[in-house]
Order: sequence, then structure tokens, then C-alpha cells
Amino acid sequence: MNQPSEHTQTEQALRESETKYRELFESSRDAIMLLFPPEWKFTTCNPATVTLFGAKSIEHFSTLGPWDVSPLLQPDGERSADKAPKAIRQAMEDGSHFFEWTHRRINGPNFAATVLLTRITLKGQTGLQATVRDISEQKRTEQTLRDLSEFQKAILDNAGHAIISATPDGIIRVFNPAAEQLLGYSAEELVGKQTPAIFHDPQEVVTRTQAFAAELGIDLEPGFDVFVEKCRRGLPNAHEWTYIRKDGSRLTVLLTITALRDPEGTITSFLGVASDITTIKSVQRELTLAKDAAEAASVAKSQFLANMSHEIRTPMNGILGMTELLLATPLTEKQRHMAHTVQQSAASLLTIINGILDYSKIEVGKLQLEHTDMNLSHLLDDVITLLSEVAHQKGLSLSVQISSSIPPTLRGDPTRLRQVLLNLIGNAIKFTVDGSITVSADCLKRDAEQILLRVTVCDTGIGIPPESQSRIFDAFAQADESTTRKFGGTGLGLAIVKQLVRLMGGTVDLESTPGLGSTFGLTVPLEVRPDNEMASVIAQPEHHPATLHGKILLAEDNVVNREIAVAMLELLGCAVDIAEDGQEALTAVAAQPYDLVLMDCQMPNLDGLKASRLIREQESQHSHRRRLPIVALTANAMEGDREQCLAAGMDGYLTKPFTVDQLHHALAPWLKQAA
Ligand code: ADP
Repeated sequence: MNQPSEHTQTEQALRESETKYRELFESSRDAIMLLFPPEWKFTTCNPATVTLFGAKSIEHFSTLGPWDVSPLLQPDGERSADKAPKAIRQAMEDGSHFFEWTHRRINGPNFAATVLLTRITLKGQTGLQATVRDISEQKRTEQTLRDLSEFQKAILDNAGHAIISATPDGIIRVFNPAAEQLLGYSAEELVGKQTPAIFHDPQEVVTRTQAFAAELGIDLEPGFDVFVEKCRRGLPNAHEWTYIRKDGSRLTVLLTITALRDPEGTITSFLGVASDITTIKSVQRELTLAKDAAEAASVAKSQFLANMSHEIRTPMNGILGMTELLLATPLTEKQRHMAHTVQQSAASLLTIINGILDYSKIEVGKLQLEHTDMNLSHLLDDVITLLSEVAHQKGLSLSVQISSSIPPTLRGDPTRLRQVLLNLIGNAIKFTVDGSITVSADCLKRDAEQILLRVTVCDTGIGIPPESQSRIFDAFAQADESTTRKFGGTGLGLAIVKQLVRLMGGTVDLESTPGLGSTFGLTVPLEVRPDNEMASVIAQPEHHPATLHGKILLAEDNVVNREIAVAMLELLGCAVDIAEDGQEALTAVAAQPYDLVLMDCQMPNLDGLKASRLIREQESQHSHRRRLPIVALTANAMEGDREQCLAAGMDGYLTKPFTVDQLHHALAPWLKQAA
């Protein structure tokens, strides 16, 4: 066999290597070009080069040199024409040279590139192979990353809240300037070295461990887990914590912790944002204290009202009761007139006092509405009867229209509804010089359970200027505030009306033209009483003063009130014995039979409530004894009195001051009526 000569072998190898090189050269995605001295122009290039630089063809590119595909200046300000030869020289000396270069596309924009120059020898000639890679995309990404990290740094540096991040196992990774300021540690002291436990209250961590363990139903050890366990479970994690500064002082923070996760969902770090809420907490504490103080003051105010109510009503009872009794005796015309005036003045004084008490009660939320049966047309008739005298004296006509669509029996608070109507109709009469007052009642809506009642009170009076119309429903506000006001009043009436109607779930409205008159309207929902329950209502006793029979024990410590009650009871036809306090009442009841006890609540030694309780106890020990009716006499008109009396075993309730009529009404259910 002919062995190929060594020469042929070398040639063969060379050819193979050349073919390989050419293949690589042709297929490379990097732009590869060859340059040779002395001009250092591109002698050839691969297809990627043509694409990269936007040349027409390889032939076209081969007419160019590096300066044709470079801008005038490089980013450092050096001319490309000066800088390129230096790079070529270095590559020729060192065998290769790698550097960044700004290139320019043919008739196109600049772009950033890396250039690798490698010294080669081709066909006996030494030159350079240049491999150019476009890195503009990479540069842009780098810039975006740089921008982002600067942005992040700016946030961290300037955030008003402490931002602390930790590795999944709890080592602090970020501790921003706000955190440094808040806690007195420097980032350097903590980052990479400590866990957040260093500035937590260890005791609190232990308590929270138990709380969170119970909440999550898991075992938990005091430590970093306590802070982040909720995040691991994807639960919201914002809690108040106590931080301890480097100097040992404490502060309260609201710490929100979030878990940061990689795309696979693995936690890469925890991020905590803490805001100092020490001030908020202390303000909150102060507010709570202030609220407690205000509530205590309000309780004191209610108590004061209860006392005042008692103190004022007791003498009022004396004045009104005595005047009523006085008027029942033979008097000269002049004396009758004077006594009558006293009675009227006392009655208006009582109205004012009741107004103030009502308003205060509403203000402290102590006014509770009753829920009993009422007949609206009776109620309106009552009010009209009461006021017709005044209207008549002023020469005003006062008329009522009640729609037949209103069911005869409704449920609500008749006393308060009466008060509202008295007020509105009373005002209409008061502020009308001549003309008429028309009261209309109608049903706006009606179903089996409820009606929406609409009552309007229309007068031809002085009217109310538009600017005062909303104000007059405020306490103490009057349309005419001049000192020469023609009409008296406290300015409380409408405020009470508005509040009462609001409590009833209704509204008040007003339309008025100065000089022409006003129409006050009131819309309230009222429950309809089912028909079959009506009988008892209709059968309710009318309280005509009638003579009663019976022996009454009056337990009352106040001399004047005693005298009045005795006189009134005698007027009604009752026999009266007296006890001056609860103890005496007990003795008297044990000694002889009575038909009824009229029991004052506040008495020395033994008060009326305790005495009643003891009477009931004694009755329960002697089962043959008849239950003795006890009617309470109280000067307190505060909410709860009635309940207290009933709880003490009393059967009825009468508020001082009372009239003979009211006394009759309170006693009649328990006593025999004279034929
Ligand atoms: P008072 O009547 O005690 O002053 P009110 O609260 O009842 O207090 O009324 C407030 C004010 O509203 C009255 O002072 C009066 O100026 C005005 N006002 C109320 N009702 C009428 C009315 N029917 N016509 C004209 N003005 C009225």
C-alpha cells in the first residue's frame, strides 16, 4: 500500500481544518470579520456581519474599515479613529484583546458591542479576526436593573416606615435608615448577623407564641417562627408589637410582614414594614380616658337631673295641689282669680321644667318610649279640648279633620305623641294673631301591621323666615331672637318634638311663608292593633272624678304633700291613715287591714321600695292574707323608676305633682266605686 506522503497528510489536515473554520465562520451568530495590515480594512466577513451592520452584501462590507462602522467619538470622548489603532496594536502584541466598543450601523444608529480581536495567520499573512457581539439589549436590561435598584434604594432610604427584611431563616438582610432611626441600631450592626428578635420584647414574644399557636392550632416555639408563621401559611400578618430600642426604651409598632416568593412559590425572604404607633396609642388612651370621664360626667348629670327633678317636683306638688284644693273651697271672686292665676303660673312652670327634663333625658339617651294601645281620635280630641279655650280666647278657629282610613286602635306612646301634638298646636295658637288653625290626620300607607301616620298643623300665623326654618328645631333656638320678642317660650319645644318623633322612627317637616302662616307636618309609623284585641281598649275606664270607697294608708314624710294627699283622698271619698316613713307603714299594715297603700318612694328610716318588699314578704308567709295593693308616689320622673317600683312589688305608679283626677285614675282600679 502506498503510504501518503507526510506533505500530503499535512495538506489534508490543513484542508480539513480550513473547512471546519469556514463552516464555523459561515454559521456563527456572532459577526466575524477579518482585517489585515497595512490598511486594516475588512477583507471578508460572515453573513451575520452583513446583518448586524446593515451592509448590502459581503462584498459591500469588504470595502469598509472599522472607522466606517464606528461613530466619530467613543463614549469616553476619544475619537474612534485614534482609539481603533490602539486596540489593533494591543491585539497584535498580546495575541488577543477583548473590549467594549460603540459601533454604528451603515446609515443607522449606534449600538453597544463587545469586540474580541484575535491574531491569526492566513496564507502566511498575519492579521486579526474580529468577533463583534451586539450587547445593546443586555445594556438596556442592565440599565433597567440599575434604575430599579436605585428606585428600590430610594424607597428604602426615604421611607417613613422601618423596612426590615430577613432571610427565610430569620437573618436580617435589609435594615433601612428609618429602621436605624426608629431602633437606634445601625444596619451594619444587624445585617447578616442578627435576627429581629434582638429588638422584640421577649416576654411579648412568649405570650404571642401561645396566642398564635392557639389561633392556628399548631405547636409553636418562641422565636423567629412566631413572626412569620402566618406568612408561611399565606395568612394576613399585621399586628401590634413592642419594639425595644438599643437604648432600652420601648415603642409600639404596627408590623406588617409579607413573604416574598420565587416563581416556584418558595419563600426567598420576609419583608416587614413597621410604623411607630406609640403616639396614636397614647392619643387613643387619652381618648378612652376622656370618653370615660365624659361618660362619668353624663352619669353624674343624669343623677343630678334625677335629684333636681325630685327637688323641684316636691314643692311643685305643694303649690299645685294646695291651689287645686284651695279652688275647691268657697272663695271671693278676687281670691278665686288670684288662686287661679297661681295655678296657671305653676302649671306653666311645670311645663318648662318638664321640657328641660325631657330634653336632658333625650340627650343622655335615657328617654324610652312606651308601647301601649291608643286611640288617635281620642288623643287628638283631648289635645284640642285642652287648647280650644286659649284658641277661643284669641278668637281663632281650631278645627280637626281625621281621615276614616286611620284604624281606631294603634300602638305607640300616647303620652309622647300627645306631647308632640300639644307642642305643635300650642305653637300654632301662640304664633297666630288671627285666622285659623287646622289639624289634619291621615294615613300615608297602611298594611295589616303598620300605618304611616301623617299629621299636619296648619296656621295663618306670623310664619317663619326661610333662614330660621332649619334652626328652630335646634334646642334653645327661636326664629325671633330680638330682646323685644312678643311671644314667650324657651325654644325647647320643637327640639323635643324633633327628638321624640325621631325616637318614634318618624320625621318632622315644615313649610312656612312669613306673614301667611306655617304648616308643621309629622310622619310616624305606628303599629296597628289587631281587631280582636280591641275590646279591652275601648272598655278602658274614662276617668270622671267619682267618689271612691276604701281605707287608705298614706306613707309620706313631707308635711305639705301629706296634707295635699289627705285632702285629695278625702275629696275622693276615702278614709286615710298616715305613716310618716316606711317603718311606720309596716307597723300600720300589720296592725289593721287597708284597702290600699299610697307609698312615697323616698322616705327616711325605711324607704318605700324596701317597705313594699317587706310587705310582700310578710304576705307570702301568711298565705291567707289578701294581696294589699300598693301604689307608688314618686317625684322622680327618670326612666327606670317605674321598673324599680314594680320590681319592689308595687302595683301602680303616680308621679308628683298630681291632680285629683290623676289620683283618682291611679286608685280606681283597686278600690270600689261609689254608686
Ligand atoms: P318656644 O315656642 O318655646 O320658643 P319652640 O321650640 O316651640 O320654642 O319654637 C321655636 C321657635 O320656632 C319659636 O320661638 C318661634 O320663633 C318658631 N315657631 C314655632 N312654631 C311656630 C309657628 N307655628 N309659627 C311661627 N313661628 C313658630
